[in-house]
Amino acid sequence: MSTSVAERLAAVRRRVEEACARAGRPVESVTLVAVSKLKPAALIREAYAAGQRDFGENYAQELRDKAAELAELEGLRWHAIGPLQTNKVKYVARVASAFHALDRVEVARELSKRREGAPPLPCYAEVNVGGEATKSGLEPAAVGDFLARVRELPGLRLVGLMSLPPPTDDEALARGAFRTLRELAARHGLPELSMGTTHDFELAIAEGATVVRVGTALFGDRA
Ligand SMILES: *Cc1c(COP(=O)(O)O)cnc(C)c1O
Repeated sequence: MSTSVAERLAAVRRRVEEACARAGRPVESVTLVAVSKLKPAALIREAYAAGQRDFGENYAQELRDKAAELAELEGLRWHAIGPLQTNKVKYVARVASAFHALDRVEVARELSKRREGAPPLPCYAEVNVGGEATKSGLEPAAVGDFLARVRELPGLRLVGLMSLPPPTDDEALARGAFRTLRELAARHGLPELSMGTTHDFELAIAEGATVVRVGTALFGDRA
């Protein structure tokens, strides 16, 4: 692919701006997280040089290693966006600026413990609004109890809900899933909505996303 990361970033930013304009929302109300999983540190440096500061990683060790390798990039924020096993929490608890895939109390407890002495970690509870049997995330009906248990833990700050609905070309279906997440978050008093990827971030913004997680459109296909 001949297009540079900087050009792709500019194109995605423009699409975010246009989606915000259509929705009557200020562009500052949406944070673009550049999902760099499985991509080399060199591409992250290129995006950083073009002004990008928020990066998303799925895998605990990969996040740890990249954070170490890129430690000199001041102001870079790492978003842990993939499911975590309890024994891998230690790799991300300190370097992450936010965790987007909280759906197990044991992981929350471990994060809470490992975050001791540091500022509280902003967390998003992941909800399965696509109704898929195989996917991670809480059932919508389980969200209330889960939030109540996590809210008791020090070191974590619940800020919103996150979802990764299955990609679909059915616009109404995609918007419906995002709307479900928005309504759930509102019901539980959570202001942030982490939803939307390369395939559907504009629809997510139309439905109120405050964080979109975009990988492929910025860094190309993953092997
Ligand atoms: C990989 C991933 C993304 C980015 O997906 P793209 O289709 O590459 O934009 C966003 N969120 C999560 C949780 C992911 O795992």
